[in-house]
Amino acid sequence: MWRDPAKALPQNGPALRRGDTRMRVAVIGAGYVGLVSGVCLADFGHHVTCIDKDRSRVDALKRGEIPIFEPGLDALVEANVRHGRLAFAADTAALSGADAVFIAVGTPARRGDGHADLSFVFDAVKDIAPLLAEATILVTKSTVPVGTGDEIERIVRQRRPNAAIAVVSNPEFLREGTAIKDFKEPDRVVIGTDDARARAVLADIYRPLLDAAPFVYVGRRTAELIKYAANAFLATKISFINEIADLCECVGGDVEDVARGIGLDERIGAKFLRAGPGIGGSCLPKDGLALIKTAHDYGMQLRLIETVCAVNEARKHAMAGKVAAALGGAVRGRTIGVLGLTFKADTDDTRDSPSIALIAGLQDRGATVRAYDPAGMEQAKLSLPAVDYCNSAYAAAEGADALVIATEWQQFRTLDLNRLRRAMAQPLIVDLRNIYDIEHMKRADFRYVALGRSAQAAVPVEMPRQRLRAMTG
Ligand code: NAD
Repeated sequence: MWRDPAKALPQNGPALRRGDTRMRVAVIGAGYVGLVSGVCLADFGHHVTCIDKDRSRVDALKRGEIPIFEPGLDALVEANVRHGRLAFAADTAALSGADAVFIAVGTPARRGDGHADLSFVFDAVKDIAPLLAEATILVTKSTVPVGTGDEIERIVRQRRPNAAIAVVSNPEFLREGTAIKDFKEPDRVVIGTDDARARAVLADIYRPLLDAAPFVYVGRRTAELIKYAANAFLATKISFINEIADLCECVGGDVEDVARGIGLDERIGAKFLRAGPGIGGSCLPKDGLALIKTAHDYGMQLRLIETVCAVNEARKHAMAGKVAAALGGAVRGRTIGVLGLTFKADTDDTRDSPSIALIAGLQDRGATVRAYDPAGMEQAKLSLPAVDYCNSAYAAAEGADALVIATEWQQFRTLDLNRLRRAMAQPLIVDLRNIYDIEHMKRADFRYVALGRSAQAAVPVEMPRQRLRAMTG
């Protein structure tokens, strides 16, 4: 049963030894998902090797440097390395003898058609297939389109016709910024396989969660689809409230109150009802596109999800126009301070971040952009070199005609407004995350433009004549 995790497994012990529930696990890909999964599985007591083909990443990890920003990750890595449960390698040979191998490599959108680019997954499978033990469980944690598990199985069978290797889908639902908690306290664990032995091994791997989270045992294709359906639903929910925010601005409502008013209905739920500048990150946008492409491949059209993706893309690109509107229609020659570059708080990930689209849009319109982010500036520099990167929010506000809050980092909620006002050329804040109170901003002598909160409008919103006529008959 459960044993002291501090006692590390010997490196070359036999797989699945009788009476010992700890496993030897290898994780291919030490990025946001692979590294977090690997360290959490090590923390469960398993003996984990995280393998990444990026040698500099592995060397950094071996030196104790964490290549991504994720709260709590450094301490957890350090503790598990110290206890001998976690190791890093650049060579796939290090997976030899593993009871289970998790694939956690990237599946970005393929350039041009939006299909998931599965080349990293298939390359990894081809690479590791000859090295897998006879009865290894090969687990796909990467988000992959329906049917990918079948193709992985075909590749493995071709190279290892006599081995009893099972291919399982175990999609990951962690969120950057709260990844460790999400992994250790998941809402559910989805295990997609019809193979009873594979189910038993996965249940052993996730044994510490057995009483804490529901286990959803389904077929492999269903598991693959669950991940995409979850992300498409979340994208739909956010896009919905964003649309309501736009309507609030027209009709004179407050989207924060609308969200609360509907979110208290248990059928709707309060989460994921925050209006914002559009959905970013490395998952929701590209997974929506991949789901649409999957449906196309089967001769189907997902009209709702297609609309959600299109609406979301348009929204990200509309934010520069919103800033321009707040400045009277144009930003040419103006200086704009931008607070936040990452797609959400508590990560350094700027992939598909709305801030990137916002800044590119402002620069295209002729603005000079100064920006600050607590963790995302190094990544942002790769796609946006022509930005003045600053070392604080106040430095980003220096001489700015408008200051845009683009990411909801905690430190942006407690700014010294007097200091900001003194730094800026004029006191205008465009808050794309609705993190400030309208009255508070008025008292601080700021002009404050937020999303879907037209209660702030100086002039009450007038009802259009035809609407009045329709109401009064
Ligand atoms: P990532 O880009 O951060 O990490 C991928 C890592 O895999 C990189 O370090 C890369 O060097 C490595 N890699 C690629 N090919 C390899 C190979 N053949 N051998 C060894 N290493 C290899 O990606 P990520 O954000 O961790 O996402 C991984 C997968 O998980 C994706 O499918 C993603 O959609 C999914 N996912 C991501 C999140 C998230 O929040 N980031 C959440 C849930 C699911």
